[in-house]
Amino acid sequence: MNTTLNSTTTKSLISFLECSSCGKHYTAFEFQRLSACCQMPLLAGYDLGESLNKEILHNRPGTMWRYRELLPVLQKENIVSLGEGFTPILSLHALAGRYNFKEVLLKDEGQNPTGSFKARGLSMAISKAREFGVEGCIIPTAGNAGVALAAYCARAGMRAVVVMPRHTPEAFREECYWYGAEVHLVDGLINDCAAKAGELNADGSLLDVSTLKEPYRLEGKKTMGYEIAEQLDWQLPDVILYPAGGGTGLIGIWKAFHELKAIGWLPPEVRLPRMVAVQAENCMPLVETFFGRQQNARHYVGKPTIANGLAVPRPLGEKLMLKTLSESGGTATSVTEEEMVLGMQELGRSEGLFVAPEGAALWMAARKLLASGYILPEEQVLLLNTGSGQKYMENVKGKYKVKNE
Ligand SMILES: *Cc1c(COP(=O)(O)O)cnc(C)c1O
Ligand SMILES: [Zn+2]
Repeated sequence: MNTTLNSTTTKSLISFLECSSCGKHYTAFEFQRLSACCQMPLLAGYDLGESLNKEILHNRPGTMWRYRELLPVLQKENIVSLGEGFTPILSLHALAGRYNFKEVLLKDEGQNPTGSFKARGLSMAISKAREFGVEGCIIPTAGNAGVALAAYCARAGMRAVVVMPRHTPEAFREECYWYGAEVHLVDGLINDCAAKAGELNADGSLLDVSTLKEPYRLEGKKTMGYEIAEQLDWQLPDVILYPAGGGTGLIGIWKAFHELKAIGWLPPEVRLPRMVAVQAENCMPLVETFFGRQQNARHYVGKPTIANGLAVPRPLGEKLMLKTLSESGGTATSVTEEEMVLGMQELGRSEGLFVAPEGAALWMAARKLLASGYILPEEQVLLLNTGSGQKYMENVKGKYKVKNE
């Protein structure tokens, strides 16, 4: 293992890993997966006392790597990049006007390599894997994470094994093959894929990069929080809606805002957004726990949804997601399959955006939360569109309504 800093260092301020459950610290300079103490996710901690002027961002490339001091990769040559991050934030003027919102913004993560925000997490995880000398990775996935893993492993010259539900649209599987990945299909949802991945990797020869089972995908996803702050000139929206599966984006964005406050890039008095988790009615474990209809998601049984990324019935990061919702004054809500189709259609026709059903769910959730009074008309709302609609064609083909019908 190579942890010696040399002239090609990124000057990463990473300093420790912390158990998200009990706070115990671990070294960030040896490979870690779940915390040894509680078998829970580890969170990366940085030396944020170091003075870091945000002027350093000037002239940096328009990718998530512009924040390299706040990221865990130690040496530049380990970075495995396809140009991920710094996606545009678009204002949805037509829809906002029609439905009486002051402003609705959409950060379009569909413009990332491989068409989803999974690129951020896997770019980071594979970069760290390379730094630790890993030769191959395995991932249980609902679709997008598998494609991203396959692409970044190809780029890094690593072996990739992807385990996905049999019902996943073919486009996801096909793209994995083009990157040279090995694909296994499983009857069931992502939790069944995780069990299969465990069997396939019984000898532990591959690094399992399942959501939150290693600390670095989260560090990639958190860069969305940095970008929202920087792109909005260090002001934050009132409400952020996020389509929650395993929850890395939700947890990561919240972590990012706190890190930005700690280094003084966000003024101390800034009000952090209310974070809203949106799920599919077919699989809404977090909504059920949030509203007290179950103690936790450990035994939740979900059904498939056209928003494949939301079919995560028993998320390991449930507690961290709930913590984000409660600390931020957020909430959880769900939308139906039909509503997602309608949302895709509205975003397509009125804004020229062909979003993933996960992203469409956010727009429909925003409409409902405005109607219920949770969102006020004068508030600024940001939708985190996590993916492009392209690979979901099989799920939504022909479901649009003919114009003027
Ligand atoms: C994976 C995924 C999600 C859910 O992301 P988590 O980090 O698991 O919460 C949402 N939307 C899309 C398009 C995804 O691929
Ligand atoms: Zn612990």
